[in-house]
Amino acid sequence: MLEGCTPWPKELAERYIAQGYWENFTIGDILDRSARHFPDREALVGMSPITGQERDSYRDLVKKADRLALRLLRLGLKPLDRVVLQLPNIPEFVYLYFALCKIGAIPVMCLPPHRLNEVGYIARHAAARAYAIPSELRGFDYLKLAADVRRQTPSLEFVLVADRNPFPGTVSLARLLEEPVEDTCDRDLLQACRPDPMEVAVFQLSGGTTGRQKIIPHTHNDYLCCCRFSAFMVGMTSYSAFLASAPVAHNFSLAAPGLNGAIYNGAKTVLAQNADPETVMQLVEAEKITYANAVPTMIINWLNHPGRERYDLSSLEVIAGGGFKVNPELGRRVQETFGCRLQQNFGMGEGLHTCTRMDDPQEVILQTQGRPLTPADEIKLVGDDGLKVPAGETGELWGRGPTVVRGYYREEERNREAFDPEGFYKTGDMLRRDDRGNLTVAGRKKDMINRAGEKISAEEVENLIFSNPKVINAAVVAMPDPIYGEKSCAYVILRSNETLGLEELNTFLLEKQIAKFKLPERLEIVENFPLTSMAKVSKEELRRDVAAKLDREKVV
Ligand code: AMP
Repeated sequence: MLEGCTPWPKELAERYIAQGYWENFTIGDILDRSARHFPDREALVGMSPITGQERDSYRDLVKKADRLALRLLRLGLKPLDRVVLQLPNIPEFVYLYFALCKIGAIPVMCLPPHRLNEVGYIARHAAARAYAIPSELRGFDYLKLAADVRRQTPSLEFVLVADRNPFPGTVSLARLLEEPVEDTCDRDLLQACRPDPMEVAVFQLSGGTTGRQKIIPHTHNDYLCCCRFSAFMVGMTSYSAFLASAPVAHNFSLAAPGLNGAIYNGAKTVLAQNADPETVMQLVEAEKITYANAVPTMIINWLNHPGRERYDLSSLEVIAGGGFKVNPELGRRVQETFGCRLQQNFGMGEGLHTCTRMDDPQEVILQTQGRPLTPADEIKLVGDDGLKVPAGETGELWGRGPTVVRGYYREEERNREAFDPEGFYKTGDMLRRDDRGNLTVAGRKKDMINRAGEKISAEEVENLIFSNPKVINAAVVAMPDPIYGEKSCAYVILRSNETLGLEELNTFLLEKQIAKFKLPERLEIVENFPLTSMAKVSKEELRRDVAAKLDREKVV
């Protein structure tokens, strides 16, 4: 396994293979296999900034991925090179993803809202050789961002741009995709590059619980195990149509089951450019979508869309909610309004997942986040003393299994904290288990804000606020929000005679080039912070304080 990654112990890896959890396929293999079984079936629908609307059969998709893979090899990319992938939901994301997986280069999954603060750090930490971007998206200039990232990242040689036009100093994905390659020597070359399924396939990013985001190395074997079991749980087949309306780079949309699961099963993937109700409903009707995944914020918006009745949404079989808890009332409304089944998911980039099953009783589907994904998953609920809590009580979820990584990339110190000596990943999430084994999320131990499924590390934002010369100390906490689930509120202690407003604070933070979703949405200036008995800032008290203030404001 790539240096800097933690492999599974040999005996466990052999067991996962012997028991069929790991099939020793690569992500490229599953595309090839579906193209052999279903050459004419639709594989991918999306809007390309290069060619407009694309509708690829499996035959087309494999051809494009192979062509791009060969062109990337010619360009000089090599197996295990890291390529930061910051493309939105466009077909080029998919072509490039499979092309990289085929040559054993590793896509690093940055999200479109990430800015220099995030991409620069990740590109340097991964020692990326290439960086793929759109030229522009929602008014933001990614070419400028790429130039900044390049200045900070000595390893970065290629900027790949998904645009019709060429830009100086960059490589045009349009040109790479257009040049035909039919040379048999080249095909042998592609075959020779087929990666080891035990090798790293994809770098995901952690939700960012402490300071900077961590890189999560998924192998072909573990990532495909995850999509296979997740697809089975929602009954995905070659007749399914999956709508990706959240960024497809996100683990839920890429691998649980997401794009990987759809390709594994020969299903169709439809890329929505955004999660707006109009866009989503038009696509559900036009593409006869059977399965859509979403965070609750998106589901709430879909339910409340006044134009909903204009669309025929009857093809929808399953809506999978995850990333944040789907409350029972919301779940009930989904089933009634869309006439489809709801599936609850709880999961994380590190690969531990739980979900409800299609044939679970209604109360399990509405009230719980289900059971672990595979029979080989080992989980425990642990108290502060590191021991298992008594049955029925709430504890921190620790887990390991064939889809759960054993360590972050190049993070020795953090790995010692986040994984126990037996390889259990400590999720930082507090859950309860009922007597039938169903788990319910009860809270969180880690210092994070979950804003509509986007995770914000409190520590990262605090450090940036702290660098403002007016500020003595800062504490960022979650405040409840009926649509987003949570938003962040910054408590700040200022130097004497200084003033600071939310707008000024956010202008300061934007100058640090952080993703916009990380900006605090409320600022409380205080004289001092409440402390715990250990003399640490009591975030619990701050969370209670802002929640009470919000309640009072509602009443007024
Ligand atoms: P990420 O790795 O970005 O997908 O974030 C994973 C984290 O999201 C988990 O550790 C949880 O804190 C949170 N999360 C995911 N699914 C749920 C859910 N169904 N309910 C509550 N929190 C969730």
